Amino acid sequence: MTLEVGIIGTGMIGQDHIRRLTKVLSGVEVVGVTDIDQARAAAAAPEGAEVFATPAALISSEKVQAVVICSWGPAHEEQLLAAIAAGKPVFCEKPLVTSEAAALRVMEAEVAFGRRLVQVGFMRRFDADYRRLKAVIDGGKLGAPLMFHSVHRNASVPEGLYTSEMPLNDTLVHDADISRWLLSDEVTGVEVRVPRRSSRGGELRDPVFVLLHMASGALVDVEISVNIAYGYDIRGEVSCEAGVAALPNRPATVISDSNGIRQAIPADWRERFIEAYDQEFREWIEAASEGTATGPSTWDGYAATLVADAALCAVASRGLEPISMIAKPGLYGPLTAMAAE
Ligand code: NAP
Repeated sequence: MTLEVGIIGTGMIGQDHIRRLTKVLSGVEVVGVTDIDQARAAAAAPEGAEVFATPAALISSEKVQAVVICSWGPAHEEQLLAAIAAGKPVFCEKPLVTSEAAALRVMEAEVAFGRRLVQVGFMRRFDADYRRLKAVIDGGKLGAPLMFHSVHRNASVPEGLYTSEMPLNDTLVHDADISRWLLSDEVTGVEVRVPRRSSRGGELRDPVFVLLHMASGALVDVEISVNIAYGYDIRGEVSCEAGVAALPNRPATVISDSNGIRQAIPADWRERFIEAYDQEFREWIEAASEGTATGPSTWDGYAATLVADAALCAVASRGLEPISMIAKPGLYGPLTAMAAE
């Protein structure tokens, strides 16, 4: 059986997912695309795919069995609600939405529908290194996790388009989600510290240092640097009661020459997480073909949104911003079940 998919948003990641769904993965066909910029959509459309005038037209089309949302965050809510109303499985790039109220509206609609339809694009959960790290922590031999050090460095971000809020409401969501998932825990409070500003980022507040307080009492520190110049560098180390587990440096060819001995660093997220994105969609295709979703859920998107909101408040308050979540709807399972995904 082939899952017939429509893509909303044919920008940077939309085009990368179209490549993945047409050239890498099987059991799936991109039958429709749409973008505010119709010319961009037409250029990105695979052969035979229809270019729809609007997201609403794509979602309601009988040709489209499942939807992939790659538009920008503020557009996600309307597109998610339309997909849920149509009863179609929907993969939504992070962030799920951009406010707590919007996350609750999406959750309410999905819960009322009565079956999971939404998967959020937290691809780190599908990365083999992160999965092995989680298996070690869950195995329990190192004892309880006490601290997680997460490092998130981008070589650069688009000048003028990336604002000082974005490290906290667009980038931190990945670290927030992977912290909850790795530690099988929830975030209860957020602090943000702003160190000396990098001169490379102009007026941008960069880097930022974030402290996540977890329900268990564990602490997570996150370095977010978005103009680090040398490459895309993702690190993680979990300190437990009886040992430490860390993501490996990615294996790469070791070059020795007159400049010394060195290994290449990925240029960006597409290169570092290429296999994770592939695996993320493999598992999405399997679930969506059954009319449902199994990966990171609306609940997980809601949790990350709360962290982003609290982080933005914490910059202004310079204090600990508490987070309180609604009771978890049964549709999203107990915390341990979520963590085992
Ligand atoms: P992008 O290059 O700006 O592409 C977004 C595309 O969607 C643009 O062509 C944009 O058109 C279009 N668009 C915006 N609103 C729309 C709407 N209401 N209906 C239809 N099309 C719309 O951005 P991107 O980097 O691909 O990011 C897209 C999403 O993916 C964001 O939510 C981002 O956070 C997420 N993302 C996730 C990862 C990850 O690691 N998982 C990595 C990168 C991006 P205009 O340019 O004309 O507005």
